[in-house]
Amino acid sequence: PTGRPMLELDGVSAGYGPVQALSAVSVRVMPGEIVTLIGANGAGKSTLLMTICGDPKPRAGRIVLEGKDIAGLPTHAIMRLGLAQSPEGRRVFPRMTVNENLVMGAETLGSGGDRSAVLGEVFALFPRLRERLSQRAGTLSGGEQQMLAIGRALMSRPRLLLLDEPSLGLAPLIVRQIFAAIRDLNARTGLTVLIVEQNANLALRLAHRGYVLVNGRIAMEGTGAELLARPEVRDAYLGGG
Ligand code: ATP
Repeated sequence: PTGRPMLELDGVSAGYGPVQALSAVSVRVMPGEIVTLIGANGAGKSTLLMTICGDPKPRAGRIVLEGKDIAGLPTHAIMRLGLAQSPEGRRVFPRMTVNENLVMGAETLGSGGDRSAVLGEVFALFPRLRERLSQRAGTLSGGEQQMLAIGRALMSRPRLLLLDEPSLGLAPLIVRQIFAAIRDLNARTGLTVLIVEQNANLALRLAHRGYVLVNGRIAMEGTGAELLARPEVRDAYLGGG
């Protein structure tokens, strides 16, 4: 795709005290794309998503969301600009019901947003959530909690959805269902998605393009198919298969 990127990271470095977690990372996400970032444990994947959201703040580089430089802005200001995140470990509010969790996600929807319409879209994507509306989120299965975390992120009608390891700890069948839902949503609505994954095989099949993060640096980039075919990717992330 051509035109203005939805999101562009240009030479971004970030870290924690003496730890340099990201070094000169450049990543581009075009409108309507699903882009995945794969990498081993500790490569800096979560840090990259958190840096986009403003915490930690980048030490160098530019982060441009739809033409606006957001580097250095506080998280709450960034979240109002049309971005939503489903964090690693699917942090739903365990004592609140499914419905209450979803309503919380709509907080930044604004007065112009039609909450029941958005709720309908989330139920169309994950019908299971409608069946569990009054159930406490902490009693949902792992897969249902992941659906809820994504559903909650969608409640703000984001233009860019950030997903941190949606497959983590879930059975393969559930992972395939969740990835299929993300693909459907992208195909139907053109929602732009940046997804961080250790499950490189599924993530590269889902994504239009991908980046490989090694020790906080981008080591490779390409279409999902190109990266899946690279011997280095197969050896390091796909068990050599
Ligand atoms: P994983 O898949 O295991 O979640 P990741 O690729 O998401 O890994 P990060 O969580 O971004 O990696 O971690 C990148 C580096 O930053 C690691 O060396 C980690 O130990 C370090 N790090 C992460 N969070 C902090 C923190 N709050 N304070 C200090 N160091 C941190």
